[in-house]
Amino acid sequence: MPIKVLAPEVISKIAAGEVIERPASVVKELVENSLDAGASQISVEAQGGGIDLIKVIDNGAGIPASEVELAFHRYATSKVSNLDDLGNISSLGFRGEALPSIAAVAEVEISTKASSDAVGSYMYLRKGDIVRRESHARPQGTTITVHRLFRYFPARLKFLKSANAENSHIAHIVSHLALAFPEVRFSLLLDKHLSLQTAGNGNLRDVVNQIYGLKLAQGMLKVKWRGTLSEISGLVSPPSLSRSNRSYLSLFVNRRWVYSSLLIRATEKAYHGLLMDGKHPVAIINISLPPEEIDVNVHPTKAQIKFHHEQAVFATVEEAAKGALTAAPIAKPGAISPSTTSRQELASLRWQGQMVGEKEPAFTAPLPTPGLPVLRVMGQLANTYIIAEGPEGLYLIDQHAAHERILYDRILAQWSQAEVEVQGLLQPITIELTPGEEQTLEANKETLAQFGFTIEPFGDRSHLIRAVPVMITKANVIEAVSILLDNLASKDSPTPWEEKIAQSLACHSAIRGGQQLSNEEMRELIKQLEQTKQPRTCPHGRPTMIQLSSYQLEKEFGRVS
Ligand code: ADP
Ligand code: MG
Repeated sequence: MPIKVLAPEVISKIAAGEVIERPASVVKELVENSLDAGASQISVEAQGGGIDLIKVIDNGAGIPASEVELAFHRYATSKVSNLDDLGNISSLGFRGEALPSIAAVAEVEISTKASSDAVGSYMYLRKGDIVRRESHARPQGTTITVHRLFRYFPARLKFLKSANAENSHIAHIVSHLALAFPEVRFSLLLDKHLSLQTAGNGNLRDVVNQIYGLKLAQGMLKVKWRGTLSEISGLVSPPSLSRSNRSYLSLFVNRRWVYSSLLIRATEKAYHGLLMDGKHPVAIINISLPPEEIDVNVHPTKAQIKFHHEQAVFATVEEAAKGALTAAPIAKPGAISPSTTSRQELASLRWQGQMVGEKEPAFTAPLPTPGLPVLRVMGQLANTYIIAEGPEGLYLIDQHAAHERILYDRILAQWSQAEVEVQGLLQPITIELTPGEEQTLEANKETLAQFGFTIEPFGDRSHLIRAVPVMITKANVIEAVSILLDNLASKDSPTPWEEKIAQSLACHSAIRGGQQLSNEEMRELIKQLEQTKQPRTCPHGRPTMIQLSSYQLEKEFGRVS
């Protein structure tokens, strides 16, 4: 549609505010305009942290000569025209504020040509005023150059960081726009050095490779979830490729890079029990939703959005990421196993038809159980690790961690069916509790009973343990109960209480490192591990096994280069 100044009643509904805070904001707005114009190639150049120069060249639709001046008017846009459009935004821009805001704080040159025009237009603006305008020949597309940003705004300049820091903000923005649009060929030149170049072939892994490197590009797992209303796609890291902060979580809604604590929580929840404390996943996830399911008009920089059905979005994102994690076989480094894709596709077919917008979680189909390949036990190392061979190479399995995983799954399954096996003690055991422990006991009495504990007061600080879950009868019961109460009392962990209890019981009852096992025992342990849902991590998120793939072995021995 042609560029028009919005009507006052539409303007009054727009979340207005400062959009140009720093050079990277200029880059973001200009590149978003290029993307909205359907460009397949966008090149960005910045000098001096973007203060001296920012230039964005695209091969998009261009602006017709008759509309170029209008594009620099406040609230002039070709993307929305009435109030209804505001509730249905599918473009990245919609407020007609970026070009005038940039022009107000810098000198701007624009050269553009639309396909309907025979020649292109050139215009030079200083502090928002047009100082030159002429026609000139050029191919279809738009080039906007911003000079001397904030030159007349010393307070703004003071707020900026070093040129290097501003460059890195710019690189951050361009990288994320490139992750959201793998089919667009991006290049980024910072102080004349090529900082990023993407292929524009539509393959997200290729973009990841350019931004994060080969290891992540090859190792990440495909997310593909399709529902009637929504689609979730992208890549998530396997637990082994986690990071120590959240800056590798990139979330997009209808390809708009957003900051959303809801989406971060949903993604991280999928990794529950798979990552050690302080570790975070790498994720590039796009959620496609009908525009009327979201409100992007809530924040000036458009980086925050509101979902109309938050719970459904949360559940869907969590399950989509979980689906990718549980469907993944142990990958051979250096190769993307074809079975990853086919299992994923199978899974996505099963999930087809799930609705976003329903109250209950969108996933009802059971997740595919990944299992382990069949392993052949070869022996025990240091009375602690089981050595096994499988189709994918050599496995070293931590016997304690593996047994913990088995017991944890078992006790939780029993608990969820109210079938925890209980052992009454012929000789009740006396335990002395501190006032704090007594409080925890009192507060968790019922839940402990559900797990098979009968503990009664016995005067003063003494208590009698009359029954315990069968699982811990062989362990030191007093120690197990004290640790359990300790775990329940710790408030800093968000783990649900039933999982805390199960973790504690499993940890206490599992065979220890240093304990010799017979071949029979080892085989049984591996067999049971194969049947758990997450055989590769213990309930605390630590690995249960290390795998040396056949490929790695060949590499180590110099059989392949
Ligand atoms: P908005 O993006 O919110 O519409 P802007 O101020 O960013 O507002 O841009 C104003 C208008 O100028 C856009 O609606 C669009 O029609 C036009 N425009 C801006 N940049 C480009 C571009 N690179 N290619 C084509 N048209 C553009
Ligand atoms: Mg815009």
